[in-house]
Amino acid sequence: VADALAAVLAGAVGPHAGAWDLSGEIPGDVLRALGARGVLCAAVPAEYGGHGLSALTNGELTAGAGVLCGSTRSVMTSQGMAAWSVQRFGDDKQRTDLLGRLTGGELAAVCFSETRAGSDLSAIGTRITEEDGGIVVDGRKVWATAAAYADLLLVMGRHGAGAAVAVVPASAPGVTVERIPAPLGCRAAGHSDINLDSVRLPKEALLVGSQLPASMLATIALTYGRLSVAWGCVGILRACLAAAAGHVRDREQFGTPLADHQLVARHIADLYTLERTATHACERAADSWDRQAPSLASDAVLAKYVAAGNAAEGSTRAVQVLASAAARDGHVVARAYRDAKLMELIEGTSEISQLILARRALEEAL
Ligand SMILES: Cc1cc2nc3c(=O)[nH]c(=O)nc-3n(C[C@H](O)[C@H](O)[C@H](O)COP(=O)(O)OP(=O)(O)OC[C@H]3O[C@@H](n4cnc5c(N)ncnc54)[C@H](O)[C@@H]3O)c2cc1C
Repeated sequence: VADALAAVLAGAVGPHAGAWDLSGEIPGDVLRALGARGVLCAAVPAEYGGHGLSALTNGELTAGAGVLCGSTRSVMTSQGMAAWSVQRFGDDKQRTDLLGRLTGGELAAVCFSETRAGSDLSAIGTRITEEDGGIVVDGRKVWATAAAYADLLLVMGRHGAGAAVAVVPASAPGVTVERIPAPLGCRAAGHSDINLDSVRLPKEALLVGSQLPASMLATIALTYGRLSVAWGCVGILRACLAAAAGHVRDREQFGTPLADHQLVARHIADLYTLERTATHACERAADSWDRQAPSLASDAVLAKYVAAGNAAEGSTRAVQVLASAAARDGHVVARAYRDAKLMELIEGTSEISQLILARRALEEAL
C-alpha cells in the first residue's frame, strides 16, 4: 500500500513543486485528489476509511513527500494531525463521520496558535462556550497551516476550567480565513490567520474527549505533528543530499569534479551524516509510537529537534556546495533552505524542545 501511495504522491506533485512555491498555491483539486486517496492521513485505521499505516511506514511516506514538496508535506502534516486528534478525542460517531470525510477528500487545519499564545498555549484566549444546547466559538487564531484550503478547522479554545477542541466548518457563519501573504518557506502550504466571530455550532462539534488541561491537550495533538515534521525534515535532507551529490559529480572546477576537492567532500559527508542521524531518530520515535511506549512523546520531541536542526544545517551545506546554482528562487535547494528554517519554529520551537528534553534527561539521571 505504501508504495502505491508514494506513487500517487509523486504523480500528483510531478515537477510542479517549484512553480507552486513561486505562486504560493497548490491547486485545490490536486490536494483533494490526494485526500480522497487517503494519502494525506494514511495512518487512519481501515475501519474509518484509512490505510492504517504504521508510524514507521507513514513516516517514510511523509519523508517522500518532504523530498518532493515542503508545502504538500506541510498540508499532509496538518491533515494527519487533525485526523489523529479526531481519532484520539472523538467518540465513535465523531470518528466515523469526521475520519470518513478526512479520508474522502475534505481537508483540515489545526488552529492552536494565537497572537499572544505561541510557545505558551496555556495563554490562549479563544473561548468555546456551551449555549442553548450548542456551542459558540469566539477568538482569533494565527498561522494555521493549510487553513486556506481547509473545509474543517480544529480549533482549540478555553472550555470550562480547561481547554477543548471544536471542529469548525470553514464555511460556518462568523468564520473568516485570511491567507498570510509570502511566508518565508513552505510558501504554498496555505498558512492563514482565522477570525471566529460568535460561531454557533451544534454540540457534536466539540470533540468529546478533548476536554483536558490545555498543555495535556496540546501535547497529545502535537506529538503526531512533531513526528510528522521530523520525517518531513528527513525528506528535506534527502532532497539536499541528492542535489548536492549530483552537482559535485557533474561540475568541474580546477580541472576536476567538485567531489574530488576534499573540503567539498566534507560537506557531502556531513550532509549524509545529518540525513542518517535524523532518520535514525525518526525511526526510533516511530517505533515508540507503534509500541505506544511511555517515552513516545519525548521521543517525538527528540526526533523533531534533531531532524529540524539537521535539516537547517544540511540545507545550508547544500547551498554552499551548489553555490550560485542553488541561489535561484524555485530551485529545490533554495526551497529546502527556506523551508528547513521554519521546521525549527513549528510544533514547538527548538528551545521548547530543549526544555522538554532537559526535563527528560534530569528525570533519567535520577
Ligand atoms: C510556517 C509555520 C506554520 C505553522 N503552522 C501552525 C499550525 O498549523 N497551527 C498552529 O496552531 N500554529 C502554527 N504555527 C505557529 C507555531 O506553532 C508558532 O510559531 C510556534 O509555536 C512559536 O510561537 P511564536 O511564533 O509565537 O514564538 P514565541 O513563542 O513568541 O517564541 C519566540 C522565541 O522565544 C523562544 N521562547 C519562548 N518561550 C521560551 C521559553 N520558555 N524558554 C526559552 N525560549 C523561549 C522561542 O523558542 C522563540 O525562539 C506555525 C508557524 C509557522 C511559522
